[in-house]
Amino acid sequence: MLDAGHGGHDSGCRGAFSNEKDVTLSIIKKLGALIKKTYPDVKVIYTRETDTFVELFERANIANRNHADLFISIHCNATKSLTAYGTETWLMGLHKSEGNLDVSRRENDVILMEENYEENYDGFDPNSPEGYIILSMNQNAHINQSINLASKVENEFSKDSRQSRGVKQAGFLVLWRTTMPSILIEAGFLTNRQEEKYLNSEIGQNEISLSVLKAIVEYKAEVEGDFSQLKLVTEENSEERLIADTSANIYVKQANNSDTISETPNKTIIDTASKANSGIIYKVQISASENLISLKDARFGGIEDIIIDKNAKEINHYVVGNYSSLQDCQNRLAILKKKGFKDAFIVAYKDGNRIPINQLP
Ligand SMILES: [Zn+2]
Repeated sequence: MLDAGHGGHDSGCRGAFSNEKDVTLSIIKKLGALIKKTYPDVKVIYTRETDTFVELFERANIANRNHADLFISIHCNATKSLTAYGTETWLMGLHKSEGNLDVSRRENDVILMEENYEENYDGFDPNSPEGYIILSMNQNAHINQSINLASKVENEFSKDSRQSRGVKQAGFLVLWRTTMPSILIEAGFLTNRQEEKYLNSEIGQNEISLSVLKAIVEYKAEVEGDFSQLKLVTEENSEERLIADTSANIYVKQANNSDTISETPNKTIIDTASKANSGIIYKVQISASENLISLKDARFGGIEDIIIDKNAKEINHYVVGNYSSLQDCQNRLAILKKKGFKDAFIVAYKDGNRIPINQLP
């Protein structure tokens, strides 16, 4: 499910010469075309394919009615500070800072242009901070996979010389009632002159959609335990890429914000078995949480070889098994999915550090 932010009489944020609604639509169409080309069997659905107004709740409804497997919303950012730039990928949750709240508030404000918004959003008031706390209680069922996909998107942006501002959480109405893993990508700042040019350029839009595609491919490969699809995206077959790096390199790196949920590989605290092994170790991740959950908790169903991988600072990953053979791990994944861990996926480690699966030898 692909969602181009805003549309029709809702222009979204504005840059010096462009509107968010037009940039998001161009990017989403390019992304849709790339997905279709990569996976001819995957059904791509759009919330809008033209410059039309679609209510936020209706965007979620379209996804739910179609039983979408993923919900990806593309937006552009804006701030008063004209120097801010870079990408952010959001998932539903409680904001940890005023800055995060501001982003969701800006994206939610559009409901004031909708008819009957009080009815459609259970009386939610985009200007009341309390409303956001209630709002954030949803979407926990898929938080594991949403974080996973969001981290991959930000990781791909980083690899493409974009400034990743990280994975963040806040209460977005468009993600509120979706019943599948759902993310909202702020692809860059229209209020930054250079980034506005990039976001409006053919090269920039191609790069952004290619980064998101790569993240989807990695995500799908993990969830399905089928790593052969990683070969579907190579630099050679993405002619969309052009000679893009020169334009992207104007974005120099800057320090990440502290309120992000980062899955950038840090030092991994992991069991000694995999540390001692110099090769690749595969495990199945069955859950993730910000607050520590006891391994004896009923929701883990008494699995004995479960451990907590702390490779992401602020998130606890619950991983199962310890396999040097991918096939063995794939078998375990199938068993765990049958047991009800439908969100489970395969993760890989080298020398005790979690490594992105597209960096496997
Ligand atoms: Zn927006």
